[in-house]
Amino acid sequence: MSLETSFERRSLPLEYPFGIARGTTTETEVVFVRIGDGDGTTGIGAAAPSSHYGETVATVEAVLPDLLSVVEDVDDPHQLERIERRMRETVRRNPSARAAVSIALHDLVAKRFDVPLYRHWGLDPAETLETSYTIGLDDLETMRAKTETALERGFGTLKVKLGTDRDLEIVRTIRSAAPDVRLFVDANEAWRPREALRKIDRLAEFDVTFVEQPVSAEDPEGLEFVSERSALPIAADESCVTLADVPAVADRCDIVNLKLMKCGGLQEARRIISTARAHGLEVMCGCMTESNASIAAACHLAPLLDYADLDGSLLLADDPAAGVPMPDGRIDLTGLDRPGTGAVLDVS
Ligand code: MG
Repeated sequence: MSLETSFERRSLPLEYPFGIARGTTTETEVVFVRIGDGDGTTGIGAAAPSSHYGETVATVEAVLPDLLSVVEDVDDPHQLERIERRMRETVRRNPSARAAVSIALHDLVAKRFDVPLYRHWGLDPAETLETSYTIGLDDLETMRAKTETALERGFGTLKVKLGTDRDLEIVRTIRSAAPDVRLFVDANEAWRPREALRKIDRLAEFDVTFVEQPVSAEDPEGLEFVSERSALPIAADESCVTLADVPAVADRCDIVNLKLMKCGGLQEARRIISTARAHGLEVMCGCMTESNASIAAACHLAPLLDYADLDGSLLLADDPAAGVPMPDGRIDLTGLDRPGTGAVLDVS
């Protein structure tokens, strides 16, 4: 087989500045990856590197040639497991770069079988979920306006970023603008353990479904302290990055937030889901601010998940890639009318 591989970096402006406890961004930089089988079929993937996990577009571009030579060396795109393992051995960290290649290969392989990826995996597309739509940190009026816009667009689940000295005001504002939505909150490690418990007690009055990453990932005892006493379920995001983290957080949270850009590939993602289940945990799949070129792949995991936070593309001003349809925020795998992940780049 003569595989053809290429990659291309692009900056994608966000629709609104996106604020979380660690800072605010106005654009996201991604690297699109294409892998062709030399027979006219091409798989598409993308890396959305996060500096929090030690990656930038420059590090992605630096390691992609080595990762793509693994693919060329194995010379069989269907050997997804072997390629992911060899990529892990080749660069160790760099999860978003590995994820981009894994996504492009899964897209290519499902296209070669002429089925959507969920069908290649044998999953039931009817077991779908609604993605949450994230309201980033901003002044209260802007957060209220974003909430109203999200409701107009049909979203029934919102995730609100917290980690400020006005967290209760924020949740009160969102709840008054959206009394009936399902509401998740994410503190992105900003609270101290006792502060977290005080805030969670108050948040419980606003019918919040769960609290994501209340305390620092550097403080596993703090996470356990909060989780054991919390009035609301606790989700681990920054505390649960790879497969090996799942057993480590199992007694310290109720839900793990899996992301392709943290774990480095779709085979690894499915192992994380199974491992989390074996530990009695619920599973959410989240994302970075990223394009449909990568989000589309995560959507095919929906039948295996309890929660989806796959709004990365929805936060972009203009995504050059189309993906899985999401009418009113519902991940509509049955509405996908093409094979692979559904990602199509540069269609207008
Ligand atoms: Mg999070």
